[in-house]
Amino acid sequence: VKSYMSSKQVTVTAINAFNDNYIWALSNETSDNANNLVLVDPGDAIACIEHIEKHQQVLSAILITHHHHDHVGGIAKLLHYASEKNWSVKVYGPANEKIDNLDITLVENDQVSLPEINGQFSILDLPGHTKGHIAYVSPEMVFCGDTLFSGGCGRLFEGTPAQMLQSLTKLSNLPDKTSVYCAHEYTQANLSFALAVEPENSQLQEYAAKVKDLRGNGLSSIPTNIGLEQQINPFLRCSQASVKLSAQRHAKQILNDPTAVFATIRSWKDNF
Ligand code: ZN
Ligand code: FE
Repeated sequence: VKSYMSSKQVTVTAINAFNDNYIWALSNETSDNANNLVLVDPGDAIACIEHIEKHQQVLSAILITHHHHDHVGGIAKLLHYASEKNWSVKVYGPANEKIDNLDITLVENDQVSLPEINGQFSILDLPGHTKGHIAYVSPEMVFCGDTLFSGGCGRLFEGTPAQMLQSLTKLSNLPDKTSVYCAHEYTQANLSFALAVEPENSQLQEYAAKVKDLRGNGLSSIPTNIGLEQQINPFLRCSQASVKLSAQRHAKQILNDPTAVFATIRSWKDNF
Protein backbone atom coordinates (compact mmCIF):
# COMPACT_ATOMS: atom_id res chain seq x y z
CA VAL A 1 0.00 0.00 0.00
CA LYS A 2 1.41 3.35 -1.01
CA SER A 3 1.17 6.28 1.34
CA TYR A 4 0.08 9.63 0.07
CA MET A 5 0.36 13.13 1.45
CA SER A 6 -2.84 14.40 2.96
CA SER A 7 -5.28 16.90 1.49
CA LYS A 8 -7.40 16.78 4.60
CA GLN A 9 -8.85 20.26 4.87
CA VAL A 10 -9.56 20.61 1.18
CA THR A 11 -13.21 21.39 0.50
CA VAL A 12 -14.67 19.95 -2.69
CA THR A 13 -17.70 21.58 -4.33
CA ALA A 14 -19.52 20.49 -7.47
CA ILE A 15 -20.06 22.83 -10.39
CA ASN A 16 -22.77 21.36 -12.61
CA ALA A 17 -22.09 21.50 -16.33
CA PHE A 18 -23.81 20.25 -19.48
CA ASN A 19 -26.36 17.50 -18.78
CA ASP A 20 -24.57 15.44 -16.19
CA ASN A 21 -20.94 16.61 -15.77
CA TYR A 22 -19.42 17.56 -12.46
CA ILE A 23 -16.55 20.04 -12.51
CA TRP A 24 -14.92 19.77 -9.08
CA ALA A 25 -13.94 23.03 -7.32
CA LEU A 26 -11.28 22.68 -4.61
CA SER A 27 -10.59 25.29 -1.95
CA ASN A 28 -9.31 25.40 1.62
CA GLU A 29 -10.61 27.71 4.32
CA THR A 30 -7.57 26.99 6.48
CA SER A 31 -5.01 27.91 3.83
CA ASP A 32 -3.21 31.28 3.78
CA ASN A 33 -5.57 32.47 1.11
CA ALA A 34 -9.02 30.93 1.48
CA ASN A 35 -10.08 32.42 -1.87
CA ASN A 36 -7.81 30.20 -3.91
CA LEU A 37 -9.53 27.82 -6.27
CA VAL A 38 -8.41 24.70 -8.12
CA LEU A 39 -10.68 23.25 -10.81
CA VAL A 40 -10.80 19.65 -12.00
CA ASP A 41 -11.86 19.02 -15.62
CA PRO A 42 -13.43 22.41 -16.42
CA GLY A 43 -15.26 21.48 -19.61
CA ASP A 44 -17.51 24.53 -19.39
CA ALA A 45 -15.77 27.88 -18.75
CA ILE A 46 -18.99 29.87 -18.28
CA ALA A 47 -20.18 27.63 -15.43
CA CYS A 48 -16.75 27.98 -13.77
CA ILE A 49 -16.60 31.77 -14.16
CA GLU A 50 -20.06 32.07 -12.61
CA HIS A 51 -18.81 30.01 -9.66
CA ILE A 52 -15.62 32.10 -9.35
CA GLU A 53 -17.51 35.39 -9.35
CA LYS A 54 -20.23 34.21 -7.00
CA HIS A 55 -17.65 33.04 -4.44
CA GLN A 56 -15.10 35.78 -5.22
CA GLN A 57 -12.34 33.25 -5.75
CA VAL A 58 -8.96 33.37 -7.47
CA LEU A 59 -8.23 30.53 -9.88
CA SER A 60 -4.74 29.13 -9.33
CA ALA A 61 -4.66 25.71 -10.96
CA ILE A 62 -6.52 23.37 -13.29
CA LEU A 63 -6.25 19.58 -13.08
CA ILE A 64 -7.16 17.54 -16.17
CA THR A 65 -7.88 13.79 -16.20
CA HIS A 66 -8.20 13.15 -19.97
CA HIS A 67 -8.60 14.85 -23.33
CA HIS A 68 -12.36 14.64 -23.96
CA HIS A 69 -14.02 17.94 -24.76
CA ASP A 70 -16.44 17.86 -21.81
CA HIS A 71 -13.33 17.86 -19.56
CA VAL A 72 -10.95 20.26 -21.34
CA GLY A 73 -13.31 22.51 -23.33
CA GLY A 74 -13.19 25.41 -20.84
CA ILE A 75 -9.42 25.68 -20.39
CA ALA A 76 -8.63 28.29 -23.05
CA LYS A 77 -11.45 30.62 -22.02
CA LEU A 78 -10.57 30.28 -18.32
CA LEU A 79 -6.92 31.12 -19.04
CA HIS A 80 -8.01 34.17 -21.00
CA TYR A 81 -10.30 35.24 -18.14
CA ALA A 82 -7.47 34.66 -15.60
CA SER A 83 -4.95 36.65 -17.64
CA GLU A 84 -7.31 39.64 -17.66
CA LYS A 85 -7.34 39.42 -13.85
CA ASN A 86 -3.55 39.01 -13.76
CA TRP A 87 -3.85 35.60 -12.10
CA SER A 88 -1.27 32.98 -12.93
CA VAL A 89 -2.85 29.58 -13.47
CA LYS A 90 -0.96 26.30 -13.76
CA VAL A 91 -2.60 23.63 -15.90
CA TYR A 92 -1.79 19.99 -15.06
CA GLY A 93 -2.71 17.03 -17.22
CA PRO A 94 -1.75 13.63 -18.59
CA ALA A 95 1.59 13.33 -20.40
CA ASN A 96 0.27 10.68 -22.76
CA GLU A 97 -2.52 12.69 -24.38
CA LYS A 98 -2.56 15.66 -26.71
CA ILE A 99 -4.13 18.56 -24.81
CA ASP A 100 -3.53 22.26 -25.50
CA ASN A 101 -2.34 24.67 -22.78
CA LEU A 102 -0.87 22.13 -20.34
CA ASP A 103 1.98 23.56 -18.23
CA ILE A 104 2.84 20.36 -16.38
CA THR A 105 2.42 16.87 -17.80
CA LEU A 106 2.01 13.91 -15.46
CA VAL A 107 2.51 10.15 -15.33
CA GLU A 108 2.02 7.52 -12.63
CA ASN A 109 3.58 8.33 -9.24
CA ASP A 110 4.19 11.98 -10.09
CA GLN A 111 3.26 14.35 -7.26
CA VAL A 112 1.17 17.49 -7.61
CA SER A 113 1.71 20.03 -4.85
CA LEU A 114 -0.92 22.71 -4.53
CA PRO A 115 0.28 24.79 -1.56
CA GLU A 116 -2.31 27.44 -2.38
CA ILE A 117 -4.99 25.04 -1.08
CA ASN A 118 -2.69 22.87 1.09
CA GLY A 119 -3.34 20.04 -1.31
CA GLN A 120 -1.08 17.23 -2.40
CA PHE A 121 -1.98 14.60 -4.97
CA SER A 122 -0.27 11.59 -6.41
CA ILE A 123 -0.92 10.42 -9.98
CA LEU A 124 -2.32 7.09 -11.13
CA ASP A 125 -2.22 6.11 -14.80
CA LEU A 126 -5.64 4.75 -15.75
CA PRO A 127 -5.64 3.71 -19.42
CA GLY A 128 -8.92 2.34 -20.78
CA HIS A 129 -11.50 5.08 -21.34
CA THR A 130 -8.72 6.99 -23.11
CA LYS A 131 -5.15 5.83 -23.47
CA GLY A 132 -3.52 8.47 -21.24
CA HIS A 133 -6.26 8.97 -18.63
CA ILE A 134 -4.92 9.80 -15.15
CA ALA A 135 -6.35 10.23 -11.64
CA TYR A 136 -5.37 12.59 -8.81
CA VAL A 137 -5.18 10.75 -5.47
CA SER A 138 -4.80 11.74 -1.84
CA PRO A 139 -5.60 9.60 1.22
CA GLU A 140 -8.98 11.29 1.47
CA MET A 141 -10.10 11.54 -2.14
CA VAL A 142 -9.60 10.58 -5.74
CA PHE A 143 -10.54 12.53 -8.89
CA CYS A 144 -10.94 9.76 -11.42
CA GLY A 145 -12.60 11.49 -14.39
CA ASP A 146 -14.43 8.99 -16.58
CA THR A 147 -12.72 5.81 -15.36
CA LEU A 148 -14.74 4.79 -12.28
CA PHE A 149 -18.34 5.98 -11.86
CA SER A 150 -20.66 5.10 -9.03
CA GLY A 151 -22.07 1.72 -10.02
CA GLY A 152 -20.24 1.74 -13.34
CA CYS A 153 -17.17 2.63 -15.35
CA GLY A 154 -16.25 4.60 -18.46
CA ARG A 155 -16.66 3.25 -21.97
CA LEU A 156 -13.61 1.79 -23.66
CA PHE A 157 -12.85 4.36 -26.35
CA GLU A 158 -9.08 3.89 -26.61
CA GLY A 159 -8.11 1.00 -24.36
CA THR A 160 -8.57 -2.73 -23.99
CA PRO A 161 -10.69 -4.53 -21.41
CA ALA A 162 -7.48 -5.80 -19.76
CA GLN A 163 -6.16 -2.23 -19.41
CA MET A 164 -9.43 -0.91 -18.04
CA LEU A 165 -9.78 -3.75 -15.55
CA GLN A 166 -6.24 -3.09 -14.33
CA SER A 167 -7.01 0.63 -14.01
CA LEU A 168 -10.20 -0.09 -12.05
CA THR A 169 -8.27 -2.50 -9.82
CA LYS A 170 -5.80 0.28 -8.96
CA LEU A 171 -8.73 2.42 -7.84
CA SER A 172 -10.38 -0.45 -5.99
CA ASN A 173 -7.14 -0.98 -4.04
CA LEU A 174 -7.30 2.51 -2.55
CA PRO A 175 -8.45 2.66 1.09
CA ASP A 176 -12.19 1.94 1.53
CA LYS A 177 -12.94 5.38 2.95
CA THR A 178 -11.46 7.24 -0.06
CA SER A 179 -14.08 9.62 -1.48
CA VAL A 180 -14.56 9.10 -5.21
CA TYR A 181 -15.17 12.25 -7.25
CA CYS A 182 -16.04 11.06 -10.74
CA ALA A 183 -16.94 13.44 -13.54
CA HIS A 184 -20.53 12.39 -14.31
CA GLU A 185 -23.83 11.77 -12.53
CA TYR A 186 -24.52 8.43 -14.20
CA THR A 187 -25.34 6.57 -11.00
CA GLN A 188 -29.03 5.74 -11.51
CA ALA A 189 -28.57 4.34 -15.02
CA ASN A 190 -25.51 2.43 -13.82
CA LEU A 191 -27.45 0.91 -10.93
CA SER A 192 -30.26 -0.29 -13.24
CA PHE A 193 -27.61 -2.23 -15.10
CA ALA A 194 -25.85 -3.36 -11.91
CA LEU A 195 -29.17 -4.81 -10.69
CA ALA A 196 -29.52 -6.72 -13.96
CA VAL A 197 -26.08 -8.26 -13.29
CA GLU A 198 -26.59 -8.87 -9.56
CA PRO A 199 -30.33 -8.84 -8.76
CA GLU A 200 -29.69 -10.59 -5.41
CA ASN A 201 -27.08 -8.13 -4.09
CA SER A 202 -28.86 -6.63 -1.06
CA GLN A 203 -26.34 -3.79 -0.58
CA LEU A 204 -26.88 -2.87 -4.21
CA GLN A 205 -30.67 -2.92 -3.74
CA GLU A 206 -30.33 -0.68 -0.68
CA TYR A 207 -27.99 1.74 -2.43
CA ALA A 208 -30.25 1.92 -5.51
CA ALA A 209 -33.17 2.91 -3.27
CA LYS A 210 -31.05 5.55 -1.56
CA VAL A 211 -29.86 7.01 -4.87
CA LYS A 212 -33.41 7.04 -6.23
CA ASP A 213 -34.36 9.15 -3.20
CA LEU A 214 -31.39 11.52 -3.58
CA ARG A 215 -32.00 12.05 -7.28
CA GLY A 216 -35.72 12.43 -6.75
CA ASN A 217 -34.88 15.29 -4.41
CA GLY A 218 -32.51 16.85 -6.94
CA LEU A 219 -29.43 15.86 -4.92
CA SER A 220 -26.11 14.47 -6.13
CA SER A 221 -25.06 10.86 -5.55
CA ILE A 222 -21.39 11.89 -5.76
CA PRO A 223 -18.95 11.54 -4.05
CA THR A 224 -19.20 7.85 -3.54
CA ASN A 225 -16.42 5.88 -1.83
CA ILE A 226 -14.20 2.92 -2.65
CA GLY A 227 -15.60 0.62 0.07
CA LEU A 228 -19.15 1.10 -1.19
CA GLU A 229 -18.18 0.65 -4.84
CA GLN A 230 -16.48 -2.64 -4.00
CA GLN A 231 -19.85 -3.87 -2.72
CA ILE A 232 -22.15 -2.58 -5.47
CA ASN A 233 -20.20 -1.87 -8.68
CA PRO A 234 -20.21 -4.92 -10.98
CA PHE A 235 -17.11 -3.67 -12.81
CA LEU A 236 -15.12 -3.92 -9.54
CA ARG A 237 -16.63 -7.35 -8.86
CA CYS A 238 -15.52 -9.37 -11.88
CA SER A 239 -13.97 -12.00 -9.58
CA GLN A 240 -17.22 -12.49 -7.63
CA ALA A 241 -19.12 -15.69 -8.46
CA SER A 242 -22.42 -13.80 -8.83
CA VAL A 243 -21.00 -11.44 -11.49
CA LYS A 244 -19.14 -14.23 -13.27
CA LEU A 245 -22.24 -16.46 -13.46
CA SER A 246 -24.37 -13.61 -14.73
CA ALA A 247 -21.77 -12.70 -17.39
CA GLN A 248 -21.54 -16.36 -18.46
CA ARG A 249 -25.33 -16.56 -18.79
CA HIS A 250 -25.27 -13.39 -20.92
CA ALA A 251 -22.34 -14.57 -23.10
CA LYS A 252 -23.73 -18.15 -23.27
CA GLN A 253 -20.21 -19.48 -22.66
CA ILE A 254 -17.72 -20.24 -19.91
CA LEU A 255 -15.57 -17.23 -19.01
CA ASN A 256 -12.23 -18.29 -17.64
CA ASP A 257 -10.82 -15.11 -16.17
CA PRO A 258 -11.88 -11.75 -14.70
CA THR A 259 -10.83 -9.92 -17.90
CA ALA A 260 -13.29 -12.00 -19.96
CA VAL A 261 -15.98 -11.30 -17.34
CA PHE A 262 -15.17 -7.60 -17.47
CA ALA A 263 -15.21 -7.49 -21.30
CA THR A 264 -18.57 -9.26 -21.32
CA ILE A 265 -20.33 -6.97 -18.85
CA ARG A 266 -18.77 -3.85 -20.41
CA SER A 267 -20.18 -4.69 -23.85
CA TRP A 268 -23.46 -5.86 -22.25
CA LYS A 269 -23.74 -2.41 -20.62
CA ASP A 270 -22.92 -0.68 -23.94
CA ASN A 271 -26.12 -2.18 -25.35
CA PHE A 272 -28.24 -2.13 -22.18
ZN1 ZN B 1 -14.50 11.11 -21.27
FE1 FE C 1 -16.82 12.83 -19.70
